[in-house]
Amino acid sequence: MQVKKFFSKHQGVVALTSGAAVDFTPVDFDAPLTDLQRSFLYRQTGIDIPQVFWRKQIHGDDILAASGGAASVRGCADADAFITKEKNLPIAIRTADCVPVFILDPVRHAVGLAHAGWKGTAKSIAAKTVQRMEARYGSQPSDLKISLGPCIRQCCYQVGKEFYEHFSAHLHRRDGYIYADMIGANRDQLLQAGVRQENIFDSGICTCCNTTYFSFRREGAKAGRMISLMMLI
Ligand SMILES: [Zn+2]
Repeated sequence: MQVKKFFSKHQGVVALTSGAAVDFTPVDFDAPLTDLQRSFLYRQTGIDIPQVFWRKQIHGDDILAASGGAASVRGCADADAFITKEKNLPIAIRTADCVPVFILDPVRHAVGLAHAGWKGTAKSIAAKTVQRMEARYGSQPSDLKISLGPCIRQCCYQVGKEFYEHFSAHLHRRDGYIYADMIGANRDQLLQAGVRQENIFDSGICTCCNTTYFSFRREGAKAGRMISLMMLI
C-alpha cells in the first residue's frame, strides 16, 4: 500500500497495489468485480468501484487510451498499459512480481498505468506510456510523478544468461548466479524519456521476500494476482 503514501486524494488521484489478502485473478475481463474484490477496494479507497478497465496482459507494449467509463472496456483489445484523462474511470493491471508503473500528470490531469514484466521492460513499455501521454494529452515528462510499485527485486530475481541481450546494465552477479534489477531498468528508461529523478518514487517492496504479497517466483502457478489500480477523482 506504499503507493498510497506517494499519491494522495489531495492530488485528485487514487492509486494502490493490493496485497495477498484478495486474489484479483480475473475470470472475465468484461465482467464487474466480485463482491469480495469490490469490498476490498472500498476499504482501501473509500470509493465504490464496481468495475475496472483492464484487459488480458500479453507482455507486449500496446497502450490503450480509456474513455467512456469502466463498462466501455467490453471487447477492447489486449493491452499491458492504459492511459486516461477521464475522472472516475479506474484503470487497472494485475501483477505477481512484475513492476506496476504508476504515472500521474498533475498539470494536465491525466494518469497512466503500465504492467512492466521483463518482456514489457525490454520493450520499454513505461517510457512508451509516457510518450503516449505526451502525444495524446500534451503531458510534459518533466511534470510527471511516477511510482514503481511492489515487484520482485534483485535480491530474488535470479535470471538466465539470455537477459544480457536486453538488460546488460541492470544485471548483478552473486555467488555465480545472475540477478536482474527491473526497477533500475524502468527507472533509467523513464529518465531517458525526460522524467525527473526526484519525481520517481520506488515502493522498495520485494514481492518475493514479503509474504504479504503474491509472488509467482515464490509460489509458482498457484500464486494469485494483485491489482494495481489508478483513478482520477
Ligand atoms: Zn527479494
